[in-house]
Amino acid sequence: MYKRILPVLVAAILIGLTANASQTRKVLFIGIDGTRSDALQQANTPNLDAMFAAQGLSYDAWCAGITISGPTWSSMLTGVWFDKHGITNNSYGGSNFNQYPYFTTLAKQVKPDLYCAEVCEWPPLIDDVYNDNFNLRLHTPDGQGATTCSVASTVLANDSIDFMFVYFDQVDLAGHSSGFSPTNPAYMTAIENVDSSVGVVMNALHNRTNYANEDWLVIVMTDHGGTGNGHGGNSDAERHIWWIANGNDLQHVTPSGADPGSYNSLIVGIFTPASVDTVKLRQTPVHTDVAVTALHHLLFDTGNNPTDNPLWSLDGKSWLATAAGIQSVEDKIQLKVFPNPASDYVAIYFTNNEKQNVTATLFDMQGRQVQSSNQIITTSKMNMSLKGLPAGQYQLSLKVGSDVVSKSLIIQ
Ligand SMILES: [Zn+2]
Repeated sequence: MYKRILPVLVAAILIGLTANASQTRKVLFIGIDGTRSDALQQANTPNLDAMFAAQGLSYDAWCAGITISGPTWSSMLTGVWFDKHGITNNSYGGSNFNQYPYFTTLAKQVKPDLYCAEVCEWPPLIDDVYNDNFNLRLHTPDGQGATTCSVASTVLANDSIDFMFVYFDQVDLAGHSSGFSPTNPAYMTAIENVDSSVGVVMNALHNRTNYANEDWLVIVMTDHGGTGNGHGGNSDAERHIWWIANGNDLQHVTPSGADPGSYNSLIVGIFTPASVDTVKLRQTPVHTDVAVTALHHLLFDTGNNPTDNPLWSLDGKSWLATAAGIQSVEDKIQLKVFPNPASDYVAIYFTNNEKQNVTATLFDMQGRQVQSSNQIITTSKMNMSLKGLPAGQYQLSLKVGSDVVSKSLIIQ
């Protein structure tokens, strides 16, 4: 069965490389307010788990801004920190959305016909934002995830949707009423309820009539955690968050998870860049990365890299595998084969700093597996016997952990 499926897989990969270019690039951003990383990891969340297993990225992300909803959602949707977008609390006073708008406005400077929609439970996030260029803004009742996912599913059935933001507030409300803690059953139940709502939204996404011809990037993130019955401070419980992303061209590099520190130091509202380690900030998913990654995905086929645009002056970074300055899988693995052309054997060289499981597989040009070696390896070289194989061109595929790279190999 393996050998029958494999040529289809190889063909699918080859077709995929060309078909991707013609697929319409779209983004779904799901926001879950007030969800601690430790609580999310312990809750029973099959829908988020499935997304996490499929792609990643990290249960170790950090709120590097103010641990309050207004400033954090603004950073996620504008791609800049609060010194630029101006929002330091939930009144949305001092906002600077004309100079630093939602990324949807920036996207439409390049692709004016993009259709952008939001379904949101928390009124300030709709009512107090301007210059976001959403085509459709729908309020749903606060904390009513079942209604929100149902409305969002209806909107997602619309073929013309290019960006969709869906926001759930139930977890934060549970935290405020009875405690932000993995030991609070009401808080954990709220997380599990929202996970079910996420499942409904994802079903609606997969059921889109044109889904096969679309290239969706899905990002799920929270704004902050909490401690006791609130948040707004700099404790780990408030700052330790997570991010989940799912898409065809996200980088597979595991983020370091190192805490970069917080801009929200000493006095809330005073911007103190010195308190943040900018190297760690680049290695960890943070709020401003949401807008930049989403924008990069939407505009990728136009050649626009959002971080290169001086007029936009964005603070976040892109987590697409193709983003400048981010290591590709090829760069990470550094696969080399020697000799090539080969005859009796080939030596395979690679980088395996994390000492992961390594599998080398050789395919012929019909996509049939003709040879395979599999080992847990602590070195950076393995040999493969080629004895008895006919002369010709082959494809050597190397899997290191979850990363896969390949190279063509000639046998003489
Ligand atoms: Zn809150």
